[in-house]
Amino acid sequence: MKRLDRRGFITNAATSVAGIVLPRRASVNRASYIAQSEYSIIEQVRKFQLLDAYCTADPKMDDAKKFGIEQMFTGKPMIWSKWTPDEFIQANDDMLALMKKYPNQVIGQISINPHYQKESLEEIDRCADLGMVGSRLYYQVKINDPLYFPIIEKFIDLNMIIFMHGEAQIGVGGYRMKYDVGRPFTISTPEDFVDAAVRYPEGMFQFAHIGGGGDWEYMCKAFREHPNIYVDTGGSNNAGGMIDFAVEYLGEDRIFFGTDNSYYQGVGKILAADLTDRQKQKIFFDNYNRVLTKGGYNMD
Ligand SMILES: [Zn+2]
Repeated sequence: MKRLDRRGFITNAATSVAGIVLPRRASVNRASYIAQSEYSIIEQVRKFQLLDAYCTADPKMDDAKKFGIEQMFTGKPMIWSKWTPDEFIQANDDMLALMKKYPNQVIGQISINPHYQKESLEEIDRCADLGMVGSRLYYQVKINDPLYFPIIEKFIDLNMIIFMHGEAQIGVGGYRMKYDVGRPFTISTPEDFVDAAVRYPEGMFQFAHIGGGGDWEYMCKAFREHPNIYVDTGGSNNAGGMIDFAVEYLGEDRIFFGTDNSYYQGVGKILAADLTDRQKQKIFFDNYNRVLTKGGYNMD
């Protein structure tokens, strides 16, 4: 059978309906197709100031430039290993090298593993002295485990946000593990974040990427009453209404724009939300910059 390209398909379809009254819906769809093709996401986003609160090394600098992202807070993706001091020090050194390569554009986030308490606390000091800001934490230990307490206290002293991965989906964490999806028991659930946030009301916590998979409705509902827990919009998942839902539950001040290197998805889901330009600007830039201001790490 002859394969049709898109143009061929449209011509063919047009021929096949010749002489037949075109269904009303088809003409509407065609009009909206044309309208969409004239929509420029770049043009739309250019009226906002952007700061990426969740970028993963290596950032796509061409895309960041195209979308006008001024700063990217960047960390290493987790390696599924024990994450020894040698490994997390290397990960941080890689971030420091990126910061040198892209000064003021890439800001590294600090990786540690609380199983190595002393080395982790020393590493936070070393990285903070060298200009890294905030944490990039994963699954080795739950955020409300006492092993994390000295680490959280250190980030509080530095006035830095504690940015950590968690998950909320069937098959993750505690009782939900009966549907095993291959995640470690030590992964933090929204309830674990809430526990840590209540224990440390002066701490600032960021739950990684509501757009990164999992039950984002559950996440937003769990954090509703906890003003020191923030979320970012990073991740490639673009479920309709996600941003609107997050604003409804968390308000417009606790949501950060993040890409996790999915630039079109990251920007598009904010632009598509039913929000005012002022609200979008808060998410794109102001909210995260306000958190940075607390430690003097903000953009001028
Ligand atoms: Zn992630």
